[in-house]
Amino acid sequence: MPTTTSLAHHDVLDPATEEVVRTVPATTPAEVDAAVARAAKAQQHWAAAAPADRARLLRRFAAVVDDHIEGLARLEVREAGHTIGNARWEAGNVRDLLDYAAGGVERLNGRQIPVPGGMNITLLEPLGVVGVIAPWNFPMPIAAWGTAPALAAGNAVLLKPAETTPLTALRLAELALAAGLPEHLFQVLPGAGDVAGNALVEHPGVAKIVFTGSTRVGKSIMAKCADRVKRVTLELGGKSPNIVFADSDLDAAAAATPMSFLDNSGQDCCARTRILVQASVYDRFLGLLAPAVESVVVGDPSDERTQMGPLISRSQLDRVRTYVPDDAKAIRGSAPDGPGFWFPPTVLTDIAPDAPAACEEVFGPVAVVLPFEDEEDAVRLANATEYGLSGSVWTRDVGRALRVSRSVRAGNLSVNSHSSVRYWTPFGGYKQSGLGRELGPDALTAFTETKNVFISTEA
Ligand code: NAD
Repeated sequence: MPTTTSLAHHDVLDPATEEVVRTVPATTPAEVDAAVARAAKAQQHWAAAAPADRARLLRRFAAVVDDHIEGLARLEVREAGHTIGNARWEAGNVRDLLDYAAGGVERLNGRQIPVPGGMNITLLEPLGVVGVIAPWNFPMPIAAWGTAPALAAGNAVLLKPAETTPLTALRLAELALAAGLPEHLFQVLPGAGDVAGNALVEHPGVAKIVFTGSTRVGKSIMAKCADRVKRVTLELGGKSPNIVFADSDLDAAAAATPMSFLDNSGQDCCARTRILVQASVYDRFLGLLAPAVESVVVGDPSDERTQMGPLISRSQLDRVRTYVPDDAKAIRGSAPDGPGFWFPPTVLTDIAPDAPAACEEVFGPVAVVLPFEDEEDAVRLANATEYGLSGSVWTRDVGRALRVSRSVRAGNLSVNSHSSVRYWTPFGGYKQSGLGRELGPDALTAFTETKNVFISTEA
């Protein structure tokens, strides 16, 4: 839970020092109501504007973000403890998402479908006001995943950032105004999830909710949206496999493994936290993995050499600790002492496949390693989870790479790589990892309704 000074305010803490960075007022349901009314008005003008004008304004927004990359990145380091290198990439990702979405405005076309006796066309109309509810682990990119295409498709956006990380979102709203976006079109409503977030979910004037966060909260939001048949996209948790076959380039696989679950201190829905290794190379792989994990540089996130910073909060640290008993057999890296929410890189090497650390999303720098016998066994283990977000396959056999990619039930896979998130390719989860897709060429259509119009030529 976030630290709060009162029900009306949230303290934003620097996770590396525990100092208060800023205190932010929490939006009340009445304020959400007023924001929805303002957004609805702004949306009507926005939707009526010429596509080229909307595209131009979004490109200008991207350019203003580009001018402020360093400031946004420094703010992300302070409020989220992200390494400065990652934070710069994240701010750049917001710029790229806006540019990419701007390119879609004039290309958001319906169809003409042959019918007898007239002409049939489809119109892609904006939904209206969209609520984007973002988590704290990637505050800037995930806010922009929903916001950029929703705006591009002619909607207004109300963004509810996580309690712990509202500062970059508030800054983005200022930059949008500086870029000339209409007032009230993009508003940021910081505050508690069960108050401000819930008010968006329950508001009849909000046409769609884009939620990224825990599976638990996602399920409750889906149930509330069902009551109103409100559109919903869910990006939820993960417990992704990293499958290493004996025929892979083991050196490359071992070298890439640490940052596949340690990036962002493991607070990554795509973290490959189940390392599955073919039994015939299990010991050799662990021998290569141990020095790679031990050498990861953990410390001050503003230092350019740092690879891993702190966890977001004390409660997150306490939670992660519950998965790693002191006497657990593990490969362990190092972490600073003193103030800050630090936990060392950890690979649990002697763990049952049904242990909590092997099944639940830890959301910290903790992975488990498990052996498998053959391809069938690897796929069985990979799919033995309620989640289905990401995964990696390491092999030199292209047929095997394709067979396993087809068999693993997850939305985002990578072969001989751990990279699977790009703004121009689709992203989303199978099973309890989510519903719907974001990013990629179809991102804008997720923020439209398709209207079918038949025009008779015989009247
Ligand atoms: P969370 O579910 O606690 O909170 C996410 C957001 O929802 C926050 O803004 C929070 O204030 C809000 N919220 C909480 N309760 C709410 C309610 N009752 N009604 C409306 N809004 C509410 O999740 P978190 O701890 O901030 O984020 C971590 C989770 O996010 C992890 O499970 C992670 O896997 C997931 N995640 C998924 C993806 C993805 O794309 N699949 C990406 C990043 C993070």
